[in-house]
Amino acid sequence: MKIAIYPGSFDPITSGHLNIIQRAANIFDKLIVCVMVNSTKQPMFSREERVHMIKSVVGNIPNVEVDSSDELLAEYARRKGSCVIVKGLRAGSDFENEFQMSLINHKINPDLDTMFLTAEHQYMYLSSSTVKELGGYDVDLSDFLPEQIIPEFKQRIAVTRQGGKR
Ligand code: ADP
Repeated sequence: MKIAIYPGSFDPITSGHLNIIQRAANIFDKLIVCVMVNSTKQPMFSREERVHMIKSVVGNIPNVEVDSSDELLAEYARRKGSCVIVKGLRAGSDFENEFQMSLINHKINPDLDTMFLTAEHQYMYLSSSTVKELGGYDVDLSDFLPEQIIPEFKQRIAVTRQGGKR
């Protein structure tokens, strides 16, 4: 069974992420979407919230599992019996960093390869941080976020703006 891992911050999951998930799920027997907890990033959503949002969006795709981890990605993949990391590649900006990560992961775990799927043109410039910025304004988010998470997302932005705590 070919198991692939799709790691990321997913803070929050966007329509661009979902598109990669759908396409990767068509290629592999099982896809594990894993929220990687990275101590250098300060996320807006907690680990549990991010997992919950992803689950609510991928619930109808039978071969997709959702998880979270603070392990080294190469170790996590080994533990899960996976030899493929899936990454989405957007215009320009992703390449340098992803190329480096892919080489490092392969060095740590030589059985592990990274497969890049190019972003669909309409998601090429979409990122979680852009969506968080837009969330502060009265903008229709339906081209950027999966419908299921828009209410939860807007609620969180409103709470944050009022100075509330997550
Ligand atoms: P972001 O860079 O938006 O914070 P993540 O760290 O959650 O995103 O990204 C996880 C993976 O998803 C990375 O491989 C990233 O390149 C990819 N990705 C992010 N946004 C998109 C998009 N709009 N289209 C395709 N892939 C994407």
